[in-house]
Amino acid sequence: MKIKMINIVTLILLTFCLTGWIIQPIPVAKEGIVSLKEWDGGKDGPVSLEGEWNFYWKTDGPDKLTAGERSLIEVPSGWDDENLFPSSGYGLYHIQLRGLKVGNNYGLKIPIMSNSYRLWLDDELMITNGNPGKTKETTIPFYKPQVVFFDAHSDTIDIYMNIANFHYRSGGMWSSLKFGTAQQITELTKRNLVFEAIIIGSLLLSGLYHIVLFLHRRKESILLMFGATCLVIAARTIVIGEQVLTILFKSVPWEFIVKTEFLTFYTVVPLFVWFMHNLYKQEVSILFCKIISVISLLFSLLVVFTPAIIYTKSLFLFQALTIVTIVYIIFALILATARKREGAKVVLSCSFIYALTVINDILYTNGNIDSTNLSSMGQFIFIFSQSYIIAKNLSKAFQKVEDFSNQLTELNQTLEEKIYDRTKSLEDSKLELQRVNEVLKEMSYLDPLTNLPNRRYFDDLYEKEWDIATTNQTMISILYMDIDHFKFYNDSYGHQQGDMTLQLVAACLQKSIQKYHGTVARIGGEEFVALIPNISPNQVSMIAEECRMKVKQLEIIHQNSSTSPFVTISIGVASTVPDATISKRKLIRMADEALYYAKEDGRNQVVLSTT
Ligand code: GH3
Ligand code: MG
Ligand code: MG
Repeated sequence: MKIKMINIVTLILLTFCLTGWIIQPIPVAKEGIVSLKEWDGGKDGPVSLEGEWNFYWKTDGPDKLTAGERSLIEVPSGWDDENLFPSSGYGLYHIQLRGLKVGNNYGLKIPIMSNSYRLWLDDELMITNGNPGKTKETTIPFYKPQVVFFDAHSDTIDIYMNIANFHYRSGGMWSSLKFGTAQQITELTKRNLVFEAIIIGSLLLSGLYHIVLFLHRRKESILLMFGATCLVIAARTIVIGEQVLTILFKSVPWEFIVKTEFLTFYTVVPLFVWFMHNLYKQEVSILFCKIISVISLLFSLLVVFTPAIIYTKSLFLFQALTIVTIVYIIFALILATARKREGAKVVLSCSFIYALTVINDILYTNGNIDSTNLSSMGQFIFIFSQSYIIAKNLSKAFQKVEDFSNQLTELNQTLEEKIYDRTKSLEDSKLELQRVNEVLKEMSYLDPLTNLPNRRYFDDLYEKEWDIATTNQTMISILYMDIDHFKFYNDSYGHQQGDMTLQLVAACLQKSIQKYHGTVARIGGEEFVALIPNISPNQVSMIAEECRMKVKQLEIIHQNSSTSPFVTISIGVASTVPDATISKRKLIRMADEALYYAKEDGRNQVVLSTT
């Protein structure tokens, strides 16, 4: 924190030092005379020729001077300041430099005047800028900073400057001439140029860079605001100060330069406000941005559609608006700093410096102080700090993205493992489920006591076999089997013994039937059914007889049977080749009926269905 404060103080001091480096107000002109006796050219550097100049209204050359028209006028300022003279017109400025060293080579740096001039040293016409005339029609305004060098032939020299203005809101010598040794003036010009070139280059680069960034990241409107602000300030810097534009292109129309100067000023303010809003949305209100934008737009339209003599009069109003904006933004930034918003401290300090330079420019443009346009430098400091903050935020964002992407890759890897594990366990569960299902299905098809297929199984099987026999026109046979007097058996030997006997009979029947590729199922308490496909009726009765015999041969004692001392079975048999006259059900009924007859007929016997 301390280090930062020191940096800020250094920056502020630097700003004032640079200002001091350019301004050398001593010695001051008095009654049109500057005494250079005290001035040590080598040590003190160039001086501003400011103070009281002689002024001759409606005089256009040193040869037309008449003592009666002489008045004293403060430089730098417009001749119309304090309503001395009307803003449109022409006049002759005069100053005498005393104390020159004969034989020395001196230089004069002439900033832009409002708006065209001729300059004489003694009686010699040295320079013409534009065409200063006596009427609007004959006057051609032109902006171009100039430098004049001369050898001192005596210890005094008279500087005359005929300035004419018919095109601008104010006329005269707004900024003062700089006088020094030829070397000093050359260096001063070079220094100014290099400084401006650096600022213009940096602003252009920064502007283009941020606009290209914006084109790739449309969501970040702050990049556009910032890029546009940089470009607009670059455009402004090209047309003010050393007038880099007129150096690059010889004859740029004066109107174009002034329009650019005003338009860039009128557009940079809203851009800057929007930029600030993007930076600190809570503190810089959107309503304020909108109001400033609308007002600036109106001012800009005035610049575009009216001549300089009209729109340049709007400058004071817009300067007032700018000062209000600066105060508002500084206030908002103080709030942002108090709320500990990111980077607010740096933005506040740089904005403060920037504000100072803008105020300097306003005062300078209005002729209140003799300085030079410094806002470009203020903007440069400001923009540099903003670029730094934006770059820092961007790289932070990149770092975040990188971290996230790393985390995501890691997560993906573990996710793949997790998915693999999960899939595997799902597959295992599926297999287990299939197995359980099969068991369940089996269970639903099996009779638990005898382990023979149950009625459900028999029904399904019968359905399939019936279709096969129908298709192939083959024989299908049904054996209905029932243990005789089994109720008595249970009564005599108990239910458990009855179960065991059921199991023995079941196993015996299965053994006999399987030999002939048939299937036996338990379909009721002591009732069984056998299905044998593809055998002749003779074979069926033979198999049925074998079954009956085998059961009897088990010799399971059944004392209470009136039929036999052993457990016996009765069998009803029905066979058919399926056709339209017989149904599945009918064949079953036929076997059942045959069984009924077997029982009726004394049990322990096989009865073949007759139909
Ligand atoms: P019929 O010769 O006319 O067939 O006489 P039955 O006594 O065998 O016939 P009925 O239909 O009157 O009786 C069948 C008996 O079978 C009744 C029941 O006690 C016995 N039973 C049915 N299911 C089971 C079983 O699962 N276990 C045992 N132990 N006995 C059963
Ligand atoms: Mg029965
Ligand atoms: Mg029975």
